[in-house]
Amino acid sequence: MTTKMTSPSGSPTTTTSGMTVEELKASLEQSNIRGGLVLDIDETLAATNVAWFERCLHLFGCSKEDTNLNVPQLIDKYHLAQHNPHWNGNPDATQWMHEQREAPEAQDNLPLIPGAVQGVQQLLASNNVNIVGYLTVRPQKVNANTRQWLQESGFPADLPIVAKPDPVPFEQGNQWKAQALHQLWPQVHAIVDDNPKVPTFCGTDYPGTIYLFGRDQVEPAYQWAIPCKTWEDVVTTVRAK
Ligand SMILES: [Mg+2]
Repeated sequence: MTTKMTSPSGSPTTTTSGMTVEELKASLEQSNIRGGLVLDIDETLAATNVAWFERCLHLFGCSKEDTNLNVPQLIDKYHLAQHNPHWNGNPDATQWMHEQREAPEAQDNLPLIPGAVQGVQQLLASNNVNIVGYLTVRPQKVNANTRQWLQESGFPADLPIVAKPDPVPFEQGNQWKAQALHQLWPQVHAIVDDNPKVPTFCGTDYPGTIYLFGRDQVEPAYQWAIPCKTWEDVVTTVRAK
């Protein structure tokens, strides 16, 4: 479903069943909801990096020192495809990554993060947890495909997707997300997110909680985040908070 909405600045924006940060805040305020939890999507629910590493390896190869590494080992080493200098230094590969981020159909059929579907179901069944939406640096223009993937994968598909406004460059995505989290407090008080840049940009003055998925430790730059290596850890930690 595509709906025309008007942003607070008055300029019309087209969203596909998505919401802006302001719209989510207003909607939660109207419903007197505080203390909600939002979920990141890529590398938290969707194993987007597995799909990217497989494709990049096929299309662009790897450096000599990585010749003996398979996809899981490459992911262990670099985490994200753009962190692999062999691809990040190749204009064809960076162009390919840019196109993947912007193309709606590139969000289809992505593999799942192990345990994510079950973990989200367990959180939904918890009395003290209220999942109120998704917060993602994917651009708004891929929302329809994102929603379809969520539905097909077994995640709640009726929750709002708050995606990065298309004009905000990808490189500033996590600054935008950190600002969104500050803005959404106290209606949203926590996020599950794999990217250490989110707590880093949120800073020590963020009053909410960042469950850092996929890590078993934190670094000084984001020591206020709570590491949760697996989805089982997320469920236990969020429920205990
Ligand atoms: Mg992520």
